[in-house]
Amino acid sequence: MKQREKEGSNENLRVVIRIRPPMAREIKDGKFISTVQAAPDNQQLCIFDYHAIELVPDEELEAFVQNPANYTIHQFTFDYVYDQESTQVEVYETTAALSVDSTLQGYNSTIMAYGQTGTGKTYTMHGFSFTPNSDQLGIIPRSLHNIFTHIQMKSNSMTTFMVRASYLQIYNESISDLLRPDHQQLNIREDKKRGVFVENLSEWAVRSPPEIYQLMRRGNAKRVTASTRMNDTSSRSHAVFIITVEQIEETPEGKRARVGKLNLVDLAGSERVRVTGATGIRLEESKKINQSLSALGNVIAALTELKQPKSHIPYRDSKITRLLEDSLGGNCKTTFMAMISPAIEAFNESLSTLKFANRAKNIRNTPMVNQDQDQGALLRKYQLEIQKLKQELDERSQMPIDSMVAELEKERQKALEDKQEVMSAYEQRNRDLVQEREMRKQLEEKISALNSQMLVGGQKIEETPQFQNALEKQQKLIRQQYQERLQELEKERQNIEEDKAQTDKYKQLLLKQRDIMIALTNRLNERDETILQLQEELDAYDKLQKELEDINQTKESRIQQLVELLKQKEVEIPMNLDLPANSNNNNAKQQLLLAEMPSSKTDFSC
Ligand code: ADP
Ligand code: MG
Repeated sequence: MKQREKEGSNENLRVVIRIRPPMAREIKDGKFISTVQAAPDNQQLCIFDYHAIELVPDEELEAFVQNPANYTIHQFTFDYVYDQESTQVEVYETTAALSVDSTLQGYNSTIMAYGQTGTGKTYTMHGFSFTPNSDQLGIIPRSLHNIFTHIQMKSNSMTTFMVRASYLQIYNESISDLLRPDHQQLNIREDKKRGVFVENLSEWAVRSPPEIYQLMRRGNAKRVTASTRMNDTSSRSHAVFIITVEQIEETPEGKRARVGKLNLVDLAGSERVRVTGATGIRLEESKKINQSLSALGNVIAALTELKQPKSHIPYRDSKITRLLEDSLGGNCKTTFMAMISPAIEAFNESLSTLKFANRAKNIRNTPMVNQDQDQGALLRKYQLEIQKLKQELDERSQMPIDSMVAELEKERQKALEDKQEVMSAYEQRNRDLVQEREMRKQLEEKISALNSQMLVGGQKIEETPQFQNALEKQQKLIRQQYQERLQELEKERQNIEEDKAQTDKYKQLLLKQRDIMIALTNRLNERDETILQLQEELDAYDKLQKELEDINQTKESRIQQLVELLKQKEVEIPMNLDLPANSNNNNAKQQLLLAEMPSSKTDFSC
């Protein structure tokens, strides 16, 4: 049974706009010229087309934008316009919460973020934060909180819930599972009961928001890795987060099953991807992005044309339109969120986004509560499974446990009896053994007593010739053994003697070596002594040398004094006496000494 909504209701397709705040790099000298302005009613929006503003010098900009002659205004009306100051909470409460409520009621809902790269699609959908209570939380984490709060509030009622999540990416027209990296190149299938779905897409049952955050982090990391490898893939890929809420309610009329689905779509950047110059992978990639986004435009165009009968809708032209078939003109409550930048450079993209969004307003969806009893919802399947298991448990519980216990007790008793029997048999055998030993001992004693007393033919046994023979034989044997042992001992002694001789030889050798060492050491000591003596002699010689030098020094100073004295007394100093600068020169010293003695000088000159 499907509840059909009133056709044409605007509730089924809402279009909202979010203007992102200017970025730091767009603000010049603390000033920013915005091309868009939201009306206070949060429904109307104006975008200003400033004529040739790029030619206006910076200092004239302010006056330029004030003059109405310099711009054309385009005006639009939407379900909601969020201006630059809008917060994440506001966006969630006034828009996204409605989609979540619809999902909880059993509708398919979709929130689709569209816009140029860098306008805040990911910020709005994810929010770059998973910290609970952070004001930065985006639509996805807030939706999950809302869903689980709702489930908690209903915990006392007769409703059972099951929440599952999936996360996929469409890149280059290929669908991959962001939560199961091994699931690549997935196909879209359609089924009467399930509608359009992705085959083999993993679904993760979740019981609390942190569980889903973990999944999202994992998926986003996968998306990020891809982006670093393929140059910002995230702006070139579409990402779809799917939350499925199944519930079965016990009502007086019976069970009521509902399945709501929430698609949270972060589309690829809508700016025109330049194909010029691109080659290979890049060209292919650009073509695919253009292809999928223009396919989205074509679907919207076809849906909103007023032709009768309705023309063919080209859903199959791209993966994203095929996947979102229900969201675009089908069984879904769709919210189309268009993000725009207020910067002058982004004017063309912003205007085209607004036109695109304006056109989307005319899409007519026909959502229904998915409440077929027989649609094979997983929760129902689980419930049936649980019921089956419970039944099995009940059956097992009813088995006669008492008789099983009695049986066991009987077996235990029997085991005890067997043990007793074995023990007593063992003890009996032990006793028999002791008795046997005792008897043997007595018999042996008896034999020995009789032996010692026994007489052979009136003689004592030791005196018989048999006994004497045996004794001699025995003595011979013992003697022989004794001789052999003696020989062995002699052999051992000889060996020891040989070893001893060998040891003595080594000992002699060692003693000889020791003597040589001692002689060598003595000679070394003698040499040391000689060296010491020589050293002492050397020292004595040095001392002598020093004394000689001192005497020379004294002599020189005395010669100097004498020369001075001769000069004072004006005694002529011989002409050829050249006083040496180096007073160590012995020749010069001799000459000076001769000069002091004129006669000898004369003698010398002769
Ligand atoms: P998109 O996903 O559209 O390419 P992003 O969501 O990555 O863009 O946003 C680009 C940058 O702008 C991010 O740094 C983001 O934090 C910032 N941003 C976008 N929208 C807002 C907003 N409404 N408020 C504050 N910052 C925003
Ligand atoms: Mg993004």
